[in-house]
Amino acid sequence: MNQRKRAKWIPLVVAAVISVAPLIGLNALLWLHINANESQQVEEAAAAILAQVDLKLDSAMTALIGLGVDNVRTCGQGERERMARAGAMTPFTREIAIVDADGSVLCSHTGRPRVLRSISPRHETLHPQVTLDLVDHGSDNSPAHLRLSWAFDDGRSIRLVVPGSELIPPIIVGKLQSDFLTQLMLADGTLLSGRLTSPDIKAGAAAPHVFESNRTSERYPLLVQISVPASALLQTYKDLFIYGNAGGLVMASIVMLLAWLATRRIDGPEREIVDAIRKGQFIAYYQPVLDISNGQLIGCEALVRWRKPDGTIVPPSAFIGLAEKTGQIYGITRAVLRRGRDDLEKAYINRPQLKVSFNLVAGHFASFDIINDILAVFETSHIRMNQLVFEVTEREELPNMARARVVIARLQEIGTQVALDDVGTGHGGLSYLLKLGVDQMKIDKMFVDAIGTDRYSTAIIDSMVRLASEMSMDLVAEGVETQEQVDYLRAKGVRAAQGYIFAPPLPAKAYVALVEAMCPVDQTAATHIAASDAA
Ligand code: C2E
Ligand code: CA
Ligand code: CA
Repeated sequence: MNQRKRAKWIPLVVAAVISVAPLIGLNALLWLHINANESQQVEEAAAAILAQVDLKLDSAMTALIGLGVDNVRTCGQGERERMARAGAMTPFTREIAIVDADGSVLCSHTGRPRVLRSISPRHETLHPQVTLDLVDHGSDNSPAHLRLSWAFDDGRSIRLVVPGSELIPPIIVGKLQSDFLTQLMLADGTLLSGRLTSPDIKAGAAAPHVFESNRTSERYPLLVQISVPASALLQTYKDLFIYGNAGGLVMASIVMLLAWLATRRIDGPEREIVDAIRKGQFIAYYQPVLDISNGQLIGCEALVRWRKPDGTIVPPSAFIGLAEKTGQIYGITRAVLRRGRDDLEKAYINRPQLKVSFNLVAGHFASFDIINDILAVFETSHIRMNQLVFEVTEREELPNMARARVVIARLQEIGTQVALDDVGTGHGGLSYLLKLGVDQMKIDKMFVDAIGTDRYSTAIIDSMVRLASEMSMDLVAEGVETQEQVDYLRAKGVRAAQGYIFAPPLPAKAYVALVEAMCPVDQTAATHIAASDAA
């Protein structure tokens, strides 16, 4: 049993692996795809930006070298015009100025020279007379500029100043899917300028970034760094992940569901019972119950039989135990209820005095499911609710007495009767009768057998008779086999009895034939009943 239970978990574990593995795989693939995509694009974007930076610096260098070679070192009219022309050639230039050996500005091409503060070391360039460094206007958040200086031999110099923001091209079309941060810095790490492709993204030292590319210029001591913040990446690929994973989860759920169904797959003898229920192999035999005071038929007890395809009839003792243990008893009970209805409906419609009792198990008294089952079978049938009796055995303990009491009350509410079966054999005894509030008690065969042999058991019958009359319950004697027993029971005032002396459990046809023989129907009364029933 334990072994079987453990084995049943295997499909679930396998399914969990089968369904989680593709999800992990999917995310890994997505990540690989994004990784390959973004890291390549980050490289391309960095290269493209650096190329444009280099190009701008090339034209600034050309302009500066031109001025230096032409010896523009004074502020005469010709020199000023020469500077203005150089400025026009490099419109991104903020200032071209001549600086004296002491650092004072002699003149600028804008006419408004600015005070500059160096914020980086000086770097050499490819041209021996030109150096490069970063400057700002002296205040803390003033933007950084790039300064190219041509040094004359006498200490004078000519400078060309480019704002850092002018160097980074504003848009790199189609290079990167995600928003990103571009930073331009000197080889020594001094930041010249940064640009975000979207003002919405959070970037900077604090924001974690996922991809980064650094590209160093071959001509200038400059470095372009591109980084994609994690938040920007998430923003770009959010939908891809959501839809991908939603699809994956749906698949995983389906696989898990199938696996769960697989774990519920049953086999062995239980499987046989399930199949037998489906194939309608559970039928009912009907054992007549007689009124021994007048010999009239009271009704019957429906007793299940398994009719195998080869015609063998299997008694309940061979399968009820397993059916109870596996829960298949509920399916069997529904089958017996339907059988009872179909077999007896015709005979019972015009004989409203006849009853049929069905056996239930302890589990039936734990929920209202049985009420629903009964209503589903009988509500639309011609067998009336007050023709139905449900037996609860005293042999098994009811797990929840309070609940059982409520279910029994509900059974009585819908018009059926409840009988306590096998009275005297179980542990419940009198307290059961009192607590459960049943309508009928059935004296077990064990006590009937003892009639005429055991004084103690007949004393028990006597007390049951007394109790039944005090609680105004019906009493049915079971397993009556001899005339002596009949006489004794009749003498004690027991009216209802069933047993082999009258009839064994009969196939439906035989029982219906017996009903028709024992309870002829007055045709006018029958039509009347049928009519009022239909109404
Ligand atoms: P039970 O409810 O006590 O049913 C009475 C049993 O006594 C029946 O056995 C019946 O054939 C047998 N019997 C009746 N009169 C005599 C007699 O005079 N002498 C002898 N020796 N036996 C007699 P059966 O049909 O084999 O059923 C055995 C048990 O199986 C039933 O005992 C009941 O507990 C259970 N059972 C039968 N049908 C169903 C069912 O549809 N549902 C459930 N849950 N249990 C059922
Ligand atoms: Ca019974
Ligand atoms: Ca019984």
